[in-house]
Amino acid sequence: SREIRPEPSVFELAPGVTVGGRELLVMAGPCSVEGEEQLLETARAVKAAGARVLRGGAFKPRTSPYAFQGMEEEGLKLLAAAREATGLPIVTEVVNPRDVDLVARYADILQVGARNVQNFPLLRLLGQQDKPVLLKRGMATTIQEFLMSAEYILSEGNQRVVLCERGIRTFETATRNTLDLSAVPVLKEQTHLPVVIDPSHATGHASLVPSMCYAAVAAGCDGLLVEVHNHPETASCDGPQSLTPAGFAAVMDKLRRFAAAA
Ligand code: PEP
Ligand code: MN
Repeated sequence: SREIRPEPSVFELAPGVTVGGRELLVMAGPCSVEGEEQLLETARAVKAAGARVLRGGAFKPRTSPYAFQGMEEEGLKLLAAAREATGLPIVTEVVNPRDVDLVARYADILQVGARNVQNFPLLRLLGQQDKPVLLKRGMATTIQEFLMSAEYILSEGNQRVVLCERGIRTFETATRNTLDLSAVPVLKEQTHLPVVIDPSHATGHASLVPSMCYAAVAAGCDGLLVEVHNHPETASCDGPQSLTPAGFAAVMDKLRRFAAAA
């Protein structure tokens, strides 16, 4: 908490890639790894636009057991190849505690999905890893519960935890979730940990993502996690909320203009 550590945490996610400092950290890429061409094309595009981390799911926590579950280790290998090709570090989700070692062999940053925010055995295992963790808030998790989940990781020794607000469940159906933007200043008041916003899962619609990126930055977030797909219309997961490479580049341009004006 802020009482114990008054200064904000600033740390490296990978060599040369810092979170919590002055520079906004943008992580971008497809919801899921689908194949070599899809991933490489998207990775090159997000890198060119200024993203510092490549995202992509190899293990997917899908609502339906019959939906695409991810390419698993094959997907991790493609992520590693994309890192090789672009120099971008990789953030990818680990869904099952038994896969922590496997995912950690390939990933630079280990993601905990919203559905696993209170999977305490998983959190403890991640606390024993020497890799930063991107911890997503659950869709029905209070700030207090969210912070206690972070504490499960910290208390095992891993101090590199990034908190991610990705929208919570409300009565509203116009958006996939309701982005709790106030979580940014609330978390900033209560904790030293960096806070990032995922406007893609929060809104569910690509057309709403740019405005929520700008709002999140205005609210004081440390970074963004944005879904980008080279062909959103054919995406096997979350196409409707994925920006095209051109759409993402336009958002990044505008963010740079805001930063220059500030
Ligand atoms: C994701 O980032 O791919 C994802 C599944 O998000 P969430 O856990 O927030 O639903
Ligand atoms: Mn997704």
